[in-house]
Amino acid sequence: MRLQKIIVLALIAVFVSLPLVTYAADQKADLTSEQIYEKRMDLYKKVETLTSVPWQYLAAVDTYERGLRRALNDRPKEDGFISIYFSENEWAGSLNPNKQDTHPLSIQMFGGIGLDGDGDGVADRLNDEDVLYTLAHQFEQYGVSEEDFRIALWEKYKRDQSVRIVHGHALVYEKFDRLDLNDHAFPMPLNYNYSYKNTWGDRRGWGGRRIHEGTDIFAGYNVPIRATAYGRVEIKGWNKYGGWRIGIRDLDNIYHYYAHLSGFEKGIEEGSIVAPGDVIGYCGSSGYGKPGTQGKFPPHLHYGMYRDNGRLEWSFDPYPSLKQWERKAYQDRKKKK
Ligand SMILES: [Zn+2]
Repeated sequence: MRLQKIIVLALIAVFVSLPLVTYAADQKADLTSEQIYEKRMDLYKKVETLTSVPWQYLAAVDTYERGLRRALNDRPKEDGFISIYFSENEWAGSLNPNKQDTHPLSIQMFGGIGLDGDGDGVADRLNDEDVLYTLAHQFEQYGVSEEDFRIALWEKYKRDQSVRIVHGHALVYEKFDRLDLNDHAFPMPLNYNYSYKNTWGDRRGWGGRRIHEGTDIFAGYNVPIRATAYGRVEIKGWNKYGGWRIGIRDLDNIYHYYAHLSGFEKGIEEGSIVAPGDVIGYCGSSGYGKPGTQGKFPPHLHYGMYRDNGRLEWSFDPYPSLKQWERKAYQDRKKKK
């Protein structure tokens, strides 16, 4: 009789606590992407008010770390709206015997960085407001100018590439003043003749035993080449393999590489911020030699995609993305008719 009672009580306890545990995840899954952006912006703006760190900086770090979580296997998926990650040691202090410590005072005593951002007296490493506030508080110590921000980023990541990417994200957010920047475009307008097939991993004719890291889209000279994502121009100029080439970093930390151009669009420079569909240059056959070399192969766009994981960068096959963006462009054109 007593045992039965215990079992019943235990079952009740499980059922009562179940909705509490799954609430955060359920809530996020039920929201549209617009609502998620809204929630995130609310959090950034709230912490911007509490500290003096501009929301664009917070959004930039969060966006960068969202990309890292996708690219790395050793970080758990975030439950909430914010992706910024602190390890237990960073949060609670490496000498803290209680790695799950949530008491702001003992965390501070052991040199941890975790703070209570939402005023509930608890510094929770998995709470959005606590995490965001902790980051902002760290950055605030360096000051809030762009240069201060870059220094704070260097201290956090100790890697030039990470500083460059996060700083770029902040500038993109500053320019468009919103978070909803996930649209993509096919790199060539549909009304031109072009053709491409999946050539991922093919051997190349020139430059030794490198494999082909990208997709070649064949088209006539001077067909406009367009940015495929929101982002910032990271590199523009000559490269002996790529000829006149341009590299754009998007908000997923992906580097889009456009090579063999005949020339660049006026006004496109290193540091320029672009939207999907913006013309950045023109199709050509430049490359495989000293600056200005062209005509060693038929004109085409070589399009490559590279993913950064916070430590290194590797290329992945752009063909499925190109197909998807092209399909979407055809659908949009149909809708307009
Ligand atoms: Zn190619």
